[in-house]
Amino acid sequence: MLEGSLFDKKRSKVTGYIDTPEVELEIPEKFLRRSSLSAFPSLSELEVVRHFTNLSRLNYGIDNNIYPLGSCSMKYNPKINEFLAEMEEFLDIHPYMDEEYVQGALKIIYELERFLCEITGMDGFTLQPSAGAHGELTGLLIAKAYFEDRKEDRDLVIVPDSAHGTNPASAVMAGFRVVEVKSDGRGLVSPSAIKPFLNDRIALIMLTNPNTLGLFEEDIYDIAQLIHDAGGLLYYDGANLNGIIGITRPGDMGFDIVHLNLHKTFSAPHGGGGPGSGPLGVKDFLVPFLPVPRVLFNGNFYSLNYDFPKSIGKVKCFYGNFTVLIKAYCYIRLLGKEGLKSIAEISTLNANYLQKRIGEFLEVPYKRLCKHEFVASLRSFRNKGFRALDIAKRLIDKGVHPPTVYFPLIVEEAFMIEPTETESLDSLDRFVEALKEVVEEASNSPDIVREAPKEHIIKRIDEAKASRMLRVKW
Ligand SMILES: *Cc1c(COP(=O)(O)O)cnc(C)c1O
Repeated sequence: MLEGSLFDKKRSKVTGYIDTPEVELEIPEKFLRRSSLSAFPSLSELEVVRHFTNLSRLNYGIDNNIYPLGSCSMKYNPKINEFLAEMEEFLDIHPYMDEEYVQGALKIIYELERFLCEITGMDGFTLQPSAGAHGELTGLLIAKAYFEDRKEDRDLVIVPDSAHGTNPASAVMAGFRVVEVKSDGRGLVSPSAIKPFLNDRIALIMLTNPNTLGLFEEDIYDIAQLIHDAGGLLYYDGANLNGIIGITRPGDMGFDIVHLNLHKTFSAPHGGGGPGSGPLGVKDFLVPFLPVPRVLFNGNFYSLNYDFPKSIGKVKCFYGNFTVLIKAYCYIRLLGKEGLKSIAEISTLNANYLQKRIGEFLEVPYKRLCKHEFVASLRSFRNKGFRALDIAKRLIDKGVHPPTVYFPLIVEEAFMIEPTETESLDSLDRFVEALKEVVEEASNSPDIVREAPKEHIIKRIDEAKASRMLRVKW
């Protein structure tokens, strides 16, 4: 039986691996605590090791099994990255050290920015933002500063109904007004849907391409033309670049501002609260507004430069989450040109394979060639008394992490599946079989599904309550 805390453990006679001798501390009487440390757990080393090892086994992660969480890119993070990021040459430096002592670290920042420019078709990057949403906010503040600089009063941001929730939230935080446009029958944004908003108030359109249905926005050239003609800018949410990396670039599609998630596409671990990294890239005319300091290179020396009068300032202390930057840098160097392209090829192949196989027993509303992910709908289960959540919970009993549910909002009872490029055919097949089993159980033994998860230490919980009353001990 596993208990939640070391403090709940029965005290054993052993106090530890090594017996500690009594020491005279010479602390004045009045400072000595009156009560003894009776609440302190007294356990042997082995008991502690077993406790934490067993706790870790209750966890689920990409190192255990497939994690097909849509719009999340839960792919394998090569262990070599962890090793490199933990090298003492990195751990023992301090952000206040003089530039001459940290040339290597500055070189990594500088080169990573150049790599990301090449990958996205942008002209300048900042690595400061700590997450995707933070990158969005940074990009929107840059757009704001740009319009203010031009003395243009623009405050309208267009966001499609398939957008990630952080998009409208970031726009509002940056002081913009948001209008939502509906996706058309193809699951795409059509130029005619945005035309009514094209006036001198339009500031930006925020798009994800491929969008959250995993579909490529085919009219992106026309949309870019319309927005630019109206004096607005195009913002690209590149949190999940897996579907197109090395094949096409947001900069070539007409986007002016791009954020990426290093903790998704570029193999830094995520979940569990971070740290993340959401670099933000811009086209030439927006480079003066990027946060400071910027790392410059004169062919010989890397320096930190603060002399950008139009900069929006800092968005994070120092230079971003540096260890995440190291991991992304190593990953890019490890894969190289061809390797980066294979991310897009394999993630797309894997998603289409799953779409085809799962499409044989679940409804897939926008059933077309997808990119790195696709969305199924479980609305037909409603007349059997099930919601997408029930099927998802039963998958946990099968030892599989469920896909994203109820997002994007435009698909009823959505099941958003992103296998990523790191899963093998074998593991994709096992996922399909597990899902199929649950779907069959929904007809044959509905109670099992309704009460799932049964075979897991955490049973069905009140999710709304759990998110408001976080209690990590049970
Ligand atoms: C994950 C994600 C974000 C937000 O990124 P965070 O790092 O969680 O802030 C934004 N847009 C899309 C499409 C995403 O998948």
